[in-house]
Amino acid sequence: MDARVLLRRYLEQRRELGESELVLDFLNVEDVMRLLGATGRSVSSTVPRLSVRELAGEQSDDWRTALHDAGVMADAPTPTLIPGPKPVAPTTPAETTNEMATKKGIGVAPKGIGVAPKGIVVAPDEAELIPGAIDKLDSLEAIAKQVKKCTRCTLHATATNPVPGEGNPNAELVCVGEAPGAKEDETGRPFIGLAGQLLTKILAAIDLTREQVFICNVLKHRPPGNRNPLPQEVEACSPYLIRQLELIKPKIIVAFGTFAAQTLLNTKTPLGQLRGLVHQYHGIPLVVTYHPAALLRNPAWKRPTWEDVKLARRILDSSPRS
Ligand code: URA
Repeated sequence: MDARVLLRRYLEQRRELGESELVLDFLNVEDVMRLLGATGRSVSSTVPRLSVRELAGEQSDDWRTALHDAGVMADAPTPTLIPGPKPVAPTTPAETTNEMATKKGIGVAPKGIGVAPKGIVVAPDEAELIPGAIDKLDSLEAIAKQVKKCTRCTLHATATNPVPGEGNPNAELVCVGEAPGAKEDETGRPFIGLAGQLLTKILAAIDLTREQVFICNVLKHRPPGNRNPLPQEVEACSPYLIRQLELIKPKIIVAFGTFAAQTLLNTKTPLGQLRGLVHQYHGIPLVVTYHPAALLRNPAWKRPTWEDVKLARRILDSSPRS
């Protein structure tokens, strides 16, 4: 199949998954779609110079060919795989993660986790206020019960089941995803579809079972057709997640995907720049990695994901025993 068709199909899938970041500096998915003629805009005079940071691995050859064919990578450096978490060099004029972290106050990196740099600190005074009723819920079961009758946004009307989250109430590691998908909506359980099966394997790779951790999402009801969550839905639903984290008090939070990461860290910084850093969420270390659904589309991201979860494991192992 023509490489451009392949690339366009791939980007459409990523857009459907709610991914807006593309691993080409200075370009996002929309830009590249336009370059490929998806929305018919001429690009000849507006093509920014590209560099590639993370395109590599099994599926990347067609990408490169397609971009070369499209004339947008003529002088770009050879793509290289980022071997693992490392400091993110500022690559855009936009405010970088480290700059933001400096502004917000640098947190203390947990001991014994090597050279992982510090990231964003979400401090208590920046916390979203938890509405009184949710703040008073004093167990995960109470939260689940409340979620079941929640009408704080309209998603309850189209969802089949609420998906509050599940796992160990004393979990040392909490996985946070975006929102329930079709299987999750059908069963009321988080991450049990294809992406969930991959999450189970990712956890197993760092010697954890689903039963040992707590797995949940930012949204507790499925957005129809898996569309992107709306800001008002996040605002309405995130108090439940905040309260869950407050009750569990894990030693490490892993945010899977752009949406969970940006919501918890209250930032618009792209996922690629949030990875490899140890952020602080109200005193709890937080690491960011790719969403398992994105890994199903792009197996080349499995290796960086492996590095991210190994970092999470190191943080866990270096935390004092409770
Ligand atoms: N994707 C998510 O973000 N969460 C789920 O529970 C399932 C798929």
